[in-house]
Order: sequence, then C-alpha cells, then structure tokens
Amino acid sequence: MAADAVVVGSGPNGLMAAVLLARAGRQVVLLEAAERFGGGLRSGELTLPGRVHDLGATVMAMALASPAFRELELKGVEFAHPPVAAAHPLDGRPAVLAHRDVHRTAEGLGRDGGAWLATVGAAARAGFPLVDLLLKPLGPWAPRPRTFAQAAGFGAAALLPTTTFARTAFRTTEARALFAGMAAHSTLDLRSPLSAGYGLVLSALAHLVGWPVVRGGSQVLADALVAELRSLGGEAVSGHRVRRLAELDAPIVVLDVTPRQFLAMADLPAGYRRGLERYRYGPGVFKMDWALDGPVPWRDPAVAGAGTVHLGGTLEEIALGEAETAAGKTSPRPYVLLVQPYAADPTRGGHTLWAYCHVPNGSRADMSDAIEAQIERYAPGFRDRVLARHTMGPADLEAVNPNLVGGDIGGGLAALSQFLRRPVWSPAPWRTPLPGVFLCSSATPPGPGVHGMGGWQAARLALRAR
Ligand SMILES: Cc1cc2nc3c(=O)[nH]c(=O)nc-3n(C[C@H](O)[C@H](O)[C@H](O)COP(=O)(O)OP(=O)(O)OC[C@H]3O[C@@H](n4cnc5c(N)ncnc54)[C@H](O)[C@@H]3O)c2cc1C
Repeated sequence: MAADAVVVGSGPNGLMAAVLLARAGRQVVLLEAAERFGGGLRSGELTLPGRVHDLGATVMAMALASPAFRELELKGVEFAHPPVAAAHPLDGRPAVLAHRDVHRTAEGLGRDGGAWLATVGAAARAGFPLVDLLLKPLGPWAPRPRTFAQAAGFGAAALLPTTTFARTAFRTTEARALFAGMAAHSTLDLRSPLSAGYGLVLSALAHLVGWPVVRGGSQVLADALVAELRSLGGEAVSGHRVRRLAELDAPIVVLDVTPRQFLAMADLPAGYRRGLERYRYGPGVFKMDWALDGPVPWRDPAVAGAGTVHLGGTLEEIALGEAETAAGKTSPRPYVLLVQPYAADPTRGGHTLWAYCHVPNGSRADMSDAIEAQIERYAPGFRDRVLARHTMGPADLEAVNPNLVGGDIGGGLAALSQFLRRPVWSPAPWRTPLPGVFLCSSATPPGPGVHGMGGWQAARLALRAR
C-alpha cells in the first residue's frame, strides 16, 4: 500500500494524526482493524434496536479542552451539556453536586466551599494555558511565566496521593467524597502519588469547559474526523488489521497501538524493546450498558440532572475499593462511574445508561450484580426500569479493541512512574528507533482521554522529520 503516510488505528489519536498529516498536504491512508472507525469513540446498538450506546468514551471534557481539538475547529459535532456536570450521592444525606459554575459548586460544599475555590477553582481559573501545559507535558511550550508559576503551584498539589490531598484540603465528608470520585477516574490506588492530580484536572475541567456528551453518541465525533480526512483526499479503510510493519509501504507510519502490540509488529533494537517490555498496564474495567423504560429513580432527585454520577460513598470507601483493585482483588463494593446521557442528549433512542467499575487487569469476575447493587443503593427500584442490559468484561473489551490490554482503558497504568516514561524515557517518546515510525496512542504522553494529543505530537514530529 503506497502513500505518504499510513496511520494504523482510528482512535482519537490516530484520527487526529491522520487529519493533521492530510491537512499538511500528505496523502494519508488510515487502516483500522474493526469494522467501525473510532476506537474508544465508537457507539452502537448494544441493547435494543434504536438505542445508541457509547462503547468506550462518553464524557468529552478532554476533547473540549484539548488544544488539538480546539485548533481543528471540526464541523458537525455538537456537545450537549447536562444541567449538572457530576453528582455524588451519599447515604442518608443529600448528594454533592459539581456544577459548571464553580461558585455554585462551592456554595453546595458549605464549610469546604472556600477550600474548593482555592484548589480546584484556582486550577479552573488558570484556564486553557494551564490545560495546554498539562496536555503537552514535554512541550513544545510557548514561554508564559505566569502559567509556569501556576503550574508549579498546581504540580505541588497534583503530585500528592488523593487521600492525603483530600484530608488536608477539605474537612467535610461531602467535599472529600466529591474529590475522591473525580480522582478515581485515574484507576489508581488513591493512596498513590499523582492520583490527586487527576482529581484536580477533571474537577477543574468540569468548571472550565463542562462535562458534555456528543449529541447522537461519541461515534459522531469519530465520523466527523473520518469525513474530514476523506475531504482532504485521505483514504480510510476499516476491517484491516495490521499484523507486521513490513506490510506497510510509506515514509511515515503512525501507530495508534500500545507497546504490547508494537512489540509483536516489528523487530526492534534491544534497548528499546526492553523498555517497552517494562511498560505496565493498569487495572481493567467491567462495563455495563442498559436500556431503561424511564430515568433512574434516584433517591435524591437532584442526581437526575447530572450527566455523570459517581457511586461508592465516602472517600474512605472509594479508596478501599480502588486499593483492593490495585492489589489484584475484586472489590465487593466497587466505585462505579455512571453516565446518564439522556440528561443532556435526547437523541439516543430513549433512556440509555452507561457505567463501569474497575477490576484487576484481565479479571474474569462478573461484576453485574455488584454494579447494580451500587446503583440500587442510591436509586431503589432501579432494576425494575431495566428493559435490557449488556456487559463487557476485560476480555470482551480487548476483543473489540486490541489497545484495551486486559481491559485497561488507559493504554497503560497512569502512575507517576509512567507519566512521562510513556512508553519509554525520551524527550520525544512519540518517536521510535525505526526511521519514520511514530507512536501516538494513549500509551504516549499525555496518556488516556479523548484529547488527540498523542496524534498531534506524532504528526508534528513526522512532518518535522520529513
Ligand atoms: C469503556 C471506556 C470508557 C471511557 N470513558 C472515557 C470518557 O468518558 N472520556 C474520555 O476522555 N476517555 C474515556 N475513555 C478513554 C478513551 O477512550 C481513550 O483514552 C482513547 O480512546 C484513546 O485513544 P487512542 O487513539 O489512543 O486509542 P483507541 O481509542 O483505543 O483506538 C485504537 C484503535 O486502533 C485500532 N487498532 C489497534 N491495533 C490495530 C492494528 N494492528 N491494526 C489496525 N487497527 C488497530 C483499534 O481497533 C482501535 O480502533 C474510555 C475508554 C473506555 C474503553
């Protein structure tokens, strides 16, 4: 297959690389193993005909904040914002709410309102310059002394374990729980360093850009990127799994794959190979989707307006569940990350629900009962609303997307040790020792999420190398 550039894999990073290379005038061929483009952006009818479910990513805060997507100015994609960004129900007391408006959120946090404004609020106020720095942790940076100063302050808090940060910054059960629910997106043991950083970034994004879904499903975003590529003369081929690099004939090859797949695809220099072999994958997820005959009957009606709902109770309870998972155990009361897209988007064919919990990498445990028990805990009668359910454990996830190794949705453990060493130590880890071959997946900085920055970096380096 002859082209100026071949991109393997059509997740948000692969799509971003393909579009940017095509915009720079390169003849691009995009090869995707699955029948549908999008990787973590795919949607499908998982339960009943006409019901649209997101197979992977659904909350698009990262896409809205990402410098790559902001520069792209993509047409035809509408972000739908729920009335409340996120809710955190608690036993025997009102749910805690994260609003788009940081001051409204702070008011709801009572005694901890000031602390929320001083921590999360400060990160949100630093705005896009700080986000850009975080999503380009290795540069290139435009010199902005004020942003570096803000980043230094942010970094000192971000490096802390969530348990330490939450107990130091906040006094109330509510604020600590809200923050723990945010930080637990990282899939890290909340006692580990840097886990507070994920909580700070995700909470700040709720205030800076909101936590929207894509109207019509995340697939709409993937399809818009494919349409953009084709409008620039690029070719996009689905159902084509690349097994060996030798199959490809192009001066630029960009791989939206993780280290394990790269190792199987190419003969690599010994030092680099050893670096990739040392790369660690994180816990997996057990994902569920439901078709409901109406909204979830939350005990606290305020939760109905939230796009995202964090289930798992207090900081202590969530930290215990995540510590169990990190230690390779199945948590009986897991932290559950739930999204009710109908709160923002009425075009999904009815009330559809999306949720997952963390499990040890490669786990075969069926977590359906544990997940539904956590929903019932805060929404008694939930099970009566279920028309159909669909489950995917780690092996099912990896079967639909080989990048989800052992069910790890982050492309590798998001720990401090792998924040920059992703997948190897290098000032430009998107570059590989093979001339013209670049990595762009979430196994490169800045890591997981729909931000396209791995693709942005790989395309930039590829264009510079030519
Ligand atoms: C269940 C789940 C929920 C998530 N929720 C969110 C969320 O709400 N918000 C958010 O920002 N992020 C979320 N994420 C994470 C986000 O989806 C990923 O971080 C992001 O998709 C990574 O993008 P990527 O381009 O690196 O890889 P992927 O999106 O994983 O895409 C990789 C693509 O490459 C293809 N591929 C791999 N190997 C080959 C090969 N040899 N030949 C051809 N094609 C190949 C795969 O089939 C796949 O299509 C979630 C992920 C999952 C799975």
